[in-house]
Amino acid sequence: PAGAAASVRTAPGALPYQDAHLPTPRRVADLLDRMTLAEKVGQMTQAERADVAADPTLIATYGLGSVLSGGGSVPAQNTPEAWADTVDSFQEAALSTRLSIPLLYGVDSVHGHGNLQGATVFPHNIGLGATRDPGLLERIGHITAIETRASGPQWTFAPCICVARDDRWGRTYESFGEDPRLATRLETVIDGLQGRPGQLDRRDRVLATAKHYAGDGLTAWDTGEGDYTLDQGIDRVSRAEFRKLALSPYPAAISKHYVGSVMPSFSSVDWTDDGIGNPIKMHANKELLTGVLKGDLGFDGLVVSDWLAIHQLPGDYAQQVATSVNAGVDLFMEPASYQEFVTTLTSAVEGGQVPMSRIDDAVSRILTVKFDLGLFEKPLTDRTNIETIGSPAHRRVAREAVAKSQVLLRNQHDTLPMSPRQPIYVAGSNADNMGNQTGGWTLTWQGGSTNVVPGQTILEGLRDATRAPVRFSETASTPVPPGAAGVVVVGETPYAEGFGDVGGPRWAYDPGDNNVPRPAQTMQLSDADIQAVREVCAQAATCTVLVVSGRPMIIPPELLRKTDALVASWLPGAEGGGVADVLLGREPFSGRLPVTWPRSVAQEPINVGDADYDPLFAYGWGLRTR
Ligand code: BGC
Repeated sequence: PAGAAASVRTAPGALPYQDAHLPTPRRVADLLDRMTLAEKVGQMTQAERADVAADPTLIATYGLGSVLSGGGSVPAQNTPEAWADTVDSFQEAALSTRLSIPLLYGVDSVHGHGNLQGATVFPHNIGLGATRDPGLLERIGHITAIETRASGPQWTFAPCICVARDDRWGRTYESFGEDPRLATRLETVIDGLQGRPGQLDRRDRVLATAKHYAGDGLTAWDTGEGDYTLDQGIDRVSRAEFRKLALSPYPAAISKHYVGSVMPSFSSVDWTDDGIGNPIKMHANKELLTGVLKGDLGFDGLVVSDWLAIHQLPGDYAQQVATSVNAGVDLFMEPASYQEFVTTLTSAVEGGQVPMSRIDDAVSRILTVKFDLGLFEKPLTDRTNIETIGSPAHRRVAREAVAKSQVLLRNQHDTLPMSPRQPIYVAGSNADNMGNQTGGWTLTWQGGSTNVVPGQTILEGLRDATRAPVRFSETASTPVPPGAAGVVVVGETPYAEGFGDVGGPRWAYDPGDNNVPRPAQTMQLSDADIQAVREVCAQAATCTVLVVSGRPMIIPPELLRKTDALVASWLPGAEGGGVADVLLGREPFSGRLPVTWPRSVAQEPINVGDADYDPLFAYGWGLRTR
């Protein structure tokens, strides 16, 4: 491309791989030819920011191909400039190596660049599933790409195209919903992230990752190995079911949206048609990684392992490394263990446990991505777009997404929308809590009730959007003024992976007592929230309940009867004003359930198409307002 020629760092007559005019395969082949085994193994290794932050020369010492920021792993000063400085200082270390191969930096921008303070924070995927709006998803992907790349990282570990089949799963909110066709339709987010083929080298695009391949949301609740097997657990299904529910979002991601990377799942498959009892972890699954993904589906991008996932494979570390490389993993997310990974993989190649052809294939895939991203020509961060991070224009799109994601489940006597002149009494644990409404993967991995990012809580959004008086008492401990309408915002506290939880122990489970149901597993509202609903619904003129959560929550019949209007608000992110927009009729309610809403937790897993399907609200349900 003419534009790129001017910025080529090397002089004319440089080596073929440094010549931006040559086609990428030529450049890859030339570079690969020049590389030693140590350099190749280094390219296949990914460390974590914290591993190398104190001494970035480690990147050169080990010839690392990639570094990631895990959830919440942010520079000391969490600003776009500090991020870009960090990534660039790591990049300089990579460029100081013999062949000057640039570094690839990855981050979990899973609902916007959520770890960056000041970034636009969108609703989590479950809410976006409710929008049914592929065009919106593409715009969200583009904004996410702009904000991520301007601050350094050229790669996001998103989207999760998982299909959540059991709402007790702690990652349900990272899913677009329970129907693989819905997940497939919303893969337009990949176009927004990566642009059209050939656009990855632009400052407004990042490499995307389809994850977690495959069947991460299909794990069984009770595999006889304790209830903790749901997250990172076992898919106990037939091959046909697995194709339909786990694999089906991948062909379009690869051949229609050209997703550049794929991350295998922590989970295992245990085919029922072979007779159960032989679960195989995805990171060791050659049939599915090499046979299906790279073979049948023609995926030519890179496969990046999940966080220390290979340590879960059978055998010692040498076996784990050899098995996963031979199965088809190309780049290894080995925070803290990266040095051990380098020495172990090197010996495996020298000892003949891993063939050189597999190494060359893996390294070619990694280098291809780096050439496509334009990193050889422009390795340092183009910071031009920093000024647009969290801009009003970007946040307007987030607010639009919030409004479109709200699902009106019940609306007796046209309670909603409310008149803008209607005085409002607001209560509930999630009415005025930015941390709770943004959820996990926001500033920190687990998220946190005390995490605050710029934006508006739901209460603030309401106050801003109405001229009528708004009173607030989280626990509904003050009287509701006569004539005021009640809005009670209930729901979950943040979590990521693991079980998820409502207020109690969440990530750390006690394997010794894993038959004791935990709050998250029961999908119950907290006592305080139930009490707030009772109080407000007994006093207010009308009473609306909003559920802010990463999955459906159980609404007891007694509570439902008291409620005039019920709304699934999901995890809306930072733009609480979008909720006010639909409550006050500035925008219509148009969202539709991306997952089935059960009557009781005993119905889990419950999904549309089940034989005895009897939910509280069916998949696709959602009332509309004008
Ligand atoms: C998650 C991935 C994520 C990775 C890097 C893992 O724990 O399973 O989805 O991309 O961490 O933060």
